[in-house]
Amino acid sequence: TRSNSLAQADLATALHPYTDARAHEQRGPLIIERGEGVRVFDSEGRDYIEAMSGLWSVALGFSEERLVKAATAQMEKLPYYHSFTHKAHEPSIRLGEKLVEMAPEGLTRVFFTNSGSEANDTVIKMVWFMNNALGRPKKKKFLARTKGYHGITIASGSLTGLPNNHRDFDLPAIPVVHLTCPHHYRFGHEGESEQDFAKRLIAEAEETILREDPDTIAAFIGEPLMGAGGVMPPPEGYWDGIAALCKKYDILLVADEVINGFGRLGTTFGCQKYGFTPDILVTSKQLTSSYLPLAAILFSEKVYDAIADNTHTIGTFGHGYTATGHPVATAVGLENLAIIEERDLVGNAARMGERLQEGLAILKDHPLVGEVRGEGLIAGVELVADKAKKTPFDPIGKVGTRAFEIGHEEGLIIRNAGDTLALCPPLIVTEEDVDAILARLTRIIDRTWEWVQAEG
Ligand code: PLP
Repeated sequence: TRSNSLAQADLATALHPYTDARAHEQRGPLIIERGEGVRVFDSEGRDYIEAMSGLWSVALGFSEERLVKAATAQMEKLPYYHSFTHKAHEPSIRLGEKLVEMAPEGLTRVFFTNSGSEANDTVIKMVWFMNNALGRPKKKKFLARTKGYHGITIASGSLTGLPNNHRDFDLPAIPVVHLTCPHHYRFGHEGESEQDFAKRLIAEAEETILREDPDTIAAFIGEPLMGAGGVMPPPEGYWDGIAALCKKYDILLVADEVINGFGRLGTTFGCQKYGFTPDILVTSKQLTSSYLPLAAILFSEKVYDAIADNTHTIGTFGHGYTATGHPVATAVGLENLAIIEERDLVGNAARMGERLQEGLAILKDHPLVGEVRGEGLIAGVELVADKAKKTPFDPIGKVGTRAFEIGHEEGLIIRNAGDTLALCPPLIVTEEDVDAILARLTRIIDRTWEWVQAEG
């Protein structure tokens, strides 16, 4: 059949990201053919609820006609232009204006890239360029967190704090210090409250800044709620403390909102949920619902001025991509944000998020479940070998991977970060969708539990 030959062609040619290559040769690809709302259909006609929004990104689901029309209309009018050397075009101007209108106060400038990784690379270069311009060339280091995810290019991959993204890639390749992951369940001490845990991490950050020398630390980057590393909301008081430290030592605070941005947590941005204002904010993914690649960096006038007034380069920021602010991608972004607003999808994420989190909380009593965590329409369910002792499985990820596979059989696409099952459904989910996700997830966890017991 056609799908068989497609599968063979895939096996003959492709190297898949984040896929055990030799295992893939044995089992073959799951070929996704079309999408409809929150569902996708494979080449055999089976349907799945896409409870991961693809890669945490398809806010509007898989069949939003208005995005298709916006892309087509722009393709017909002006399929490509750039913004180098004083050029500009309407979609990127309008989207920039819209983003500044939506952004927290003080973020008045915009720079577009194609991906979150490139956006974080650009942030690093902006910050370095700025500090060179300001005559403080030593101020170059970044503070990040273990288990943080900021992308995979050489520089953004250096900020990422996951061993898989470093080992055998010779990363980190830029000066970065990784601080303790702010996940209370895993990194809190025995008997330590969430608030005390946050205080300890803030003290650790300050000690690190002093040990390294504040004059060498340029920026702190973090996801308001950590996503790809395993869906970890911060402990109470964490962001207040970090923001105060950044102010005290003249360190730029960068919020990586590539997953959090545009409603995921039930607020437009994650930093709003946790009550802090960054100097730089990075968005992508839900910006276009990933119908086209696009990312945007929002930054303050202070950063802009330092770049614009760089006397070494006569105000020229020597950085940009062929597709920076691509007209078709920015036209789709503009329409996507209009739809999120018109349909109050941030409000829907808050309401459906509450239903999702309440439903998941029931799983806390399951013998396989160590912790249930999340905010709005993003959640993680961590599976453990020993519930009382919080003992992880050995090797980490074996049981999570099994649950992920059972998910396919149960018609639910989830993702496993090690043994944490992640959920991140489209912002358009209805009550019925949320209930179906919960029912399928419960079956997946029950079946995984049976499998764990049978394995001994
Ligand atoms: N930053 C965060 C928080 C992300 O979750 C991701 C991707 O998952 C990135 C950056 C990198 O984005 P991209 O995959 O578009 O390069």
